[in-house]
Amino acid sequence: MVTASDLELVAGRECGACNVCCVALTINDPALQKLQGYRCRNATADNGCAIYETRPQTCRTFFCGWRYLKWIREPLRPDTSGVLFRLHYDKPDAAGQRRLGLMMTLLTNAALKAEGLAETVAAAVAAELPVFLHVPGPPGHTASTARLNDVLRDAVMTKNKPAVLEILRQARAKGRKGDHKPIVLGRPTEGGTAIQKMD
Ligand code: SF4
Ligand code: SF4
Repeated sequence: MVTASDLELVAGRECGACNVCCVALTINDPALQKLQGYRCRNATADNGCAIYETRPQTCRTFFCGWRYLKWIREPLRPDTSGVLFRLHYDKPDAAGQRRLGLMMTLLTNAALKAEGLAETVAAAVAAELPVFLHVPGPPGHTASTARLNDVLRDAVMTKNKPAVLEILRQARAKGRKGDHKPIVLGRPTEGGTAIQKMD
């Protein structure tokens, strides 16, 4: 079973001017707490990090799916595509094993037009990787999450790209109407090494 610690970063892919994860995600680290949808107070005008050398452990260890997985198409860097992929474990199966999959956030309506989106999602579904759609609520609120493998399977197997995109559009629209509650952060774990940038 592949785990996140088995993965290496894709050679040649850099964050560059992207700082989507510094805005879109909740961070619950002893050194920094912020809610999803709010830009981190340490982000600089050019999308750098004002405390880069001493940034929290969560920030040091987090990389999005685009940085880890070569088959996530090249144009899908989060800042230019509006698509944020993250590694995400499925629920435990009957044997207690949790499969590594992908959590996808479509940050804008335009993200549905991103080059390579349908192909990347189709590749994941065809490979039986768990694929989830994460739909954030308003800033500081919880998200809706749905596993999409079953609803996407027919469209993927028939190579019907428009149908894949339409399913994503409908799932996002449904998620946006979900019940989003204010996020309440718990006390972060001392040390922070076990904490990931979270929903
Ligand atoms: S979202 Fe990905 S590419 Fe963008 S800054 Fe974070 S890790 Fe880098
Ligand atoms: S502290 Fe972390 S979240 Fe904030 S700007 Fe720096 S790297 Fe991004």
